Amino acid sequence: MRVDLHTHSARSDGTDSPAELMAAAVAAGLDVIALTDHDTTAGWAEAAAQRPRGLTVVPGVELSCASPVTGADAIGVHLLGYLFDAEHPDFRDARVRLRESRHGRAEEMVRRMRASGLPIDWERVSALAAGGPVGRPHMARALVGAGLAATVDEAFRLHLHHGSPYYVRKADVDVGDGVRMVRAAGGVPVLAHALAGRRGRVVGDDVIADLAAAGLLGLEVDHPDHTEEDRRHLRGVAGELGLLCTGSSDYHGTNKQTPIGVFGTAPAVLDTIIGLSTGTRPYAD
Ligand code: AMP
Ligand code: FE
Ligand code: FE
Ligand code: ZN
Repeated sequence: MRVDLHTHSARSDGTDSPAELMAAAVAAGLDVIALTDHDTTAGWAEAAAQRPRGLTVVPGVELSCASPVTGADAIGVHLLGYLFDAEHPDFRDARVRLRESRHGRAEEMVRRMRASGLPIDWERVSALAAGGPVGRPHMARALVGAGLAATVDEAFRLHLHHGSPYYVRKADVDVGDGVRMVRAAGGVPVLAHALAGRRGRVVGDDVIADLAAAGLLGLEVDHPDHTEEDRRHLRGVAGELGLLCTGSSDYHGTNKQTPIGVFGTAPAVLDTIIGLSTGTRPYAD
């Protein structure tokens, strides 16, 4: 059984609709995927309604967090949440705030780029986000469309990376609060790509230990942005702290090179995640 617990649809910054994402999973020979769009559960209903027979879909989210949450030393952290109750008020309100913050932040990044002579069009960026949480991949596609970068990857390298003068931070959730909210909503929190250093500074083992004490249940160990050494280290940390180890592709359609299913999660770990959750059930036959 092949299980990929981290994928994005066009409801956030992927390029496949939820139906296309599920078709891609089937075509790749996967049995289970989690739908983990950034800061939104907007794709859950379509995934439930259009799921191909035989494919299991784990509804989830990838929450924009930081540790600490403000200040110059804040480190951006992504928290995966699985099988939570999407209507839980505190958690739902946090996602609304994150999406609103993304909107203002994207407008400011576009304003900065335009002010320094990069004629990126806000209407285009906004249209690409299609009413969902707007992110840098939407800006990247607009830059490519305007001929200001050759590829999404080049747009990141030239203009959108975290050290760029155009970069503006989002208002993230404190990652400890994120863990507590996922648990309060009956979900299973797993720290995403914790050592993905090319995205910026990463948290230390002390932070991971604090999160485990706050209710974190797993670490995403096998991820395309981790080196072999990162993966070995995280597996050790997970062993010491009694955390689950997951693996996944972080598929974003054509916004990234990564094929769906490039890393996977052990079926027994998936069973444990399902067993620990009380918020909602997977979509399955
Ligand atoms: P944001 O959430 O708006 O800060 O944008 C971060 C998103 O951009 C993450 O989902 C990443 O998957 C994506 N991303 C980061 N670096 C790159 C890159 N070099 N090429 C394509 N996507 C990227
Ligand atoms: Fe993304
Ligand atoms: Fe992420
Ligand atoms: Zn992701």
